Amino acid sequence: MRLRLGKRYGGLAHGFGCACHTPAVLELNRRIVAGLDRRSVLKGIAASFAAVSLSQSGAFAQTPGKPVLFSNVRIFDGRQGSLVEGSGVLVSGNKIEALVPASETVTDADVIDCGGRVLMPGLIDSHWHTMLAAIPELVAMTADVPYVHLVAAQQAEATLQRGFTTVRDVGGPSFSVKRAIDEGRFPGPRIFPAGAMISQTSGHGDFRFRYEVPRGSGNDITHSEEAGISAIADGVPEVLRRVREQLMLGASQIKIMVGGGVSSAYDPLDATQFLPEEIRAAVDAASDWGTYVCAHVYTSAGINRAIDNGVKCIEHGQLADEDTVRRMADTGTWWSIQPFLADEDSNPKSDPVQRQQQEEIAVGTVRAFELGQKHKVRMAWGTDILFNPRGTSGQGRQLAKLSRWFDNAEILRMATSHSADLLALSGERSPYRGKVGVIEQGAFADLLLVDGNPLENIDLVADPEANFRIIVKDGRIHKDTLRG
Ligand SMILES: [Zn+2]
Ligand SMILES: [Zn+2]
Repeated sequence: MRLRLGKRYGGLAHGFGCACHTPAVLELNRRIVAGLDRRSVLKGIAASFAAVSLSQSGAFAQTPGKPVLFSNVRIFDGRQGSLVEGSGVLVSGNKIEALVPASETVTDADVIDCGGRVLMPGLIDSHWHTMLAAIPELVAMTADVPYVHLVAAQQAEATLQRGFTTVRDVGGPSFSVKRAIDEGRFPGPRIFPAGAMISQTSGHGDFRFRYEVPRGSGNDITHSEEAGISAIADGVPEVLRRVREQLMLGASQIKIMVGGGVSSAYDPLDATQFLPEEIRAAVDAASDWGTYVCAHVYTSAGINRAIDNGVKCIEHGQLADEDTVRRMADTGTWWSIQPFLADEDSNPKSDPVQRQQQEEIAVGTVRAFELGQKHKVRMAWGTDILFNPRGTSGQGRQLAKLSRWFDNAEILRMATSHSADLLALSGERSPYRGKVGVIEQGAFADLLLVDGNPLENIDLVADPEANFRIIVKDGRIHKDTLRG
């Protein structure tokens, strides 16, 4: 059964459209739940701790407790379109203590001569799935559950090594991985978690097979819900409960499904999901908790319903018409968009209906970026890489692709200070007490030292292994190829 599904649905998930809902995900959820039933969650935790000893980070020269001065740098501060020259960056603890004029001497600090290279803020991916990005469908379907934990832990470090010091996680049970990273148990980015994706019955987060319909009164929690991947809610009371559960677990924002997707097993791309009062209920519950709701949706009808009822950020939105884009701009609605193009990073579907939808999204993507730029919508960039180990290495490449529409400064802002502005919508529910995405006094010391100037050559971010010589997160050096 599992192998048959894997073969049949093998092409559904990779790198093209949001695939959070595929039967493969369902099968993974089943395995996670089955594993939980076997108490192998304990093994999973053990495996995650094993990842700490496997980790190779933290081996770089840095005196504990001693400030570090990055001298002889040119600075992209996350906002300005030109480099700031003549100052070093002094890091003390996990924050930037000061920008220090080159003429001043700093005593009692380790000094790293950066040779005139460019120092910039760590990158932010605004649409990421920590738990499911890097595990292949078939492996997820056949491996022991602890292996799934290990892959997530390993991928967290790989994500950081690509220069992504913060991710906005828009679906999946990332709370524990986040906690372990924050505790310093293994390396990884800061995570702004949404937890389970809230969906109506039959919606984009309803992962059941057809034979599980109707839902029985004695078994009203589905496997995917037990695993924390999604939460199915119908009617205002259920929406309130499910949203509040995610907030209780520590969600920094709430993710709801307001429309269909390309790879959906059941829900059509053009479907609008959740009644206005259900969306409003999610927004009210989040708002009372001091945070906001983002919505997976592609179509104008869905986007407008989301905006009507208080959703602050649209995820995807590639099929928006111009009036809708103008409305997004007028209402200050955020647009978290991904370059779902018909290029080398796409994964063409075998099913003709899905392939046609893919093509529709690819055409829509080009137009959406053009319209977003034309109407000056607040845009954040993300990748939505899912079940795609090879695709993860292209995380930075997906950013460089934006050069088709934006100049390099705009691109870099989108993945630093602008994304940080989106993260700031979490308000007091932000897990981190400080600024990200900028180099300024008091901001978190999340830094990249780049060989070359990304304001002149954006392709540098596409090859982080070669071009990011030093990676700092939370004041700690996680990569250093400058000093060996
Ligand atoms: Zn989605
Ligand atoms: Zn997604």
